Amino acid sequence: MNTHAINFNAGPSKLPPSVLKSAQDNLINYQGTGLSVLEMSHRSREFMAIRDHAEQAVRSALSVPDDYDVLFLQGGATMQFSMVPLSFCKPNQTVNMIHTGSWTKKAIAEIKKQGRVHMVASSESTQFDRIPDITPDQFDPDAAYTHICSNNTIYGTQYASFPESPVPLVADMSSDILSRPLPISDFNLIFAGAQKNAGPAGVTLVIVKKSWLDQDFDHLPLMLNYAKHAKESSMLNTSPTFSIYLLGLTVQWVLDQGGVATMQTRNQAKAKRLYDYLNSSDFYSPIAQPDSRSVMNVCFKTPTPDLDAVFVRESAQANLVGLKGHRLIGGLRASIYNAVSADDVDALLTFMQSFESNHH
Ligand SMILES: *Cc1c(COP(=O)(O)O)cnc(C)c1O
Repeated sequence: MNTHAINFNAGPSKLPPSVLKSAQDNLINYQGTGLSVLEMSHRSREFMAIRDHAEQAVRSALSVPDDYDVLFLQGGATMQFSMVPLSFCKPNQTVNMIHTGSWTKKAIAEIKKQGRVHMVASSESTQFDRIPDITPDQFDPDAAYTHICSNNTIYGTQYASFPESPVPLVADMSSDILSRPLPISDFNLIFAGAQKNAGPAGVTLVIVKKSWLDQDFDHLPLMLNYAKHAKESSMLNTSPTFSIYLLGLTVQWVLDQGGVATMQTRNQAKAKRLYDYLNSSDFYSPIAQPDSRSVMNVCFKTPTPDLDAVFVRESAQANLVGLKGHRLIGGLRASIYNAVSADDVDALLTFMQSFESNHH
């Protein structure tokens, strides 16, 4: 049997080994019920307990205030790009946008089908190598809301702290939710496709201020109606039961490790080791600007695209997978989400050092 590869994939990505083991142990016979979670009714008492546990784990890990709903939806973060403007941007209203890469580009395209975009700031002119600096006067104070992407998975940039918006703040946190403590009350809505840091693909976590849902969404398709999802505990239809189960196990793992503050300390230490090495090397170079570097996705390159390709090949032979940069920017990318251990990062550093000495 192959030893498990060391997984630096950007998403779907590494899950904690103990989560996979627990899912395996319960796969055929979940806690003596005689059924697999895969086979249970989504309305059964057993599954409702699994769903409630997942919600409680999220509430506890992120200290979600009681006046927020926690929803488990489908359609990925991409569905949220449509669902948020359809719900909260009336025709001809404006949305403030801080444009930091391909995920905000996709959000912009969906907002434009519904309303207008006010570009607060953009880092497009520097190939999205940073989180732009902004001043309060750059926002449209009459906009319906402000959209940001907290961590730019492809370009390797991340907000160290969040901007103060004069209107409700919405954040795509697909690739850094649960990586650090969050001031939830500063946001009206947070969404995250689970498959980066919160579990497997197939479920999208939404944390939304209840008072924002106190409006009429009946003109929308049922499955795009946040208020209905909230009212029915995200059970409007057959929910992605196994994904919710694994999300619950993953968030419970975060809690068992000491919570998101522990995750933050570990994540910062892992990222620092990589960035310190990249900074000290005259062979590799980091891609993002120093103040904007992501703790989750470390993007870098060797002296040439050809050597980047050799790096991808040789690292895979060394059992390190998922290090190819996104096709939009090339180079290399190490995604070091919560489940990627300090030992995994050490294995990468050892490989990088030997690659540097072989090819310098
Ligand atoms: C992966 C990702 C998405 C897309 O998520 P899907 O679940 O595939 O729709 C959106 N935003 C960010 C920041 C991502 O990392």
